[in-house]
Amino acid sequence: MNRLLELERSVTDEKQRLVRRHSLKARRKRQPVGYAIPLGAPDLKLRERVPSKAEVDVVGAMKKKIRRTDPEFKDLEENTNADIVFKDEEKTGADRMMTPRLCQGLNKLATAVKSAWSGVKLRVTEAWDEDNEHSGASLHYEGRAADITTSDQDGDKLGHLARLAVDAGLDWVFFEDERHVHVSVARG
Ligand SMILES: [Zn+2]
Repeated sequence: MNRLLELERSVTDEKQRLVRRHSLKARRKRQPVGYAIPLGAPDLKLRERVPSKAEVDVVGAMKKKIRRTDPEFKDLEENTNADIVFKDEEKTGADRMMTPRLCQGLNKLATAVKSAWSGVKLRVTEAWDEDNEHSGASLHYEGRAADITTSDQDGDKLGHLARLAVDAGLDWVFFEDERHVHVSVARG
């Protein structure tokens, strides 16, 4: 009787081992090669930063406040993506101006937002800033940072929006407050 129990137990153990091994394999398969951050990672919490370091250590410090008359202004791109809503508070089109790297990241994020929530778009409330609206060395002045929400301005979506931003390859993502997520990129 005891032997039978023992046998049953070892069969169960073996079964569990196989199930574990299979799910581990399946998990590895789902993850694309070279993808550093696991897919399906949790949404960001309020005040969380990814990576969890100072912004300056991840994307580099601001060098110069770019003005329209500066030669560097020509290096900024105008983002004309129809899948992004631009707040354009200043009515100058400044929010559409950004470095090519930020442009690329936001465009990728816009696609992800569209498929995450139907009828909802990515919304940019600030990108390049020429009006000294940010703190001293803000990367907004170089067009390397953007403040984002979803078009429905639903604060409950921000944690997931921040996760999508990380997955879209934006270099530094900060769930800054209940009203917006701040993202920034390295130079280039
Ligand atoms: Zn910002």
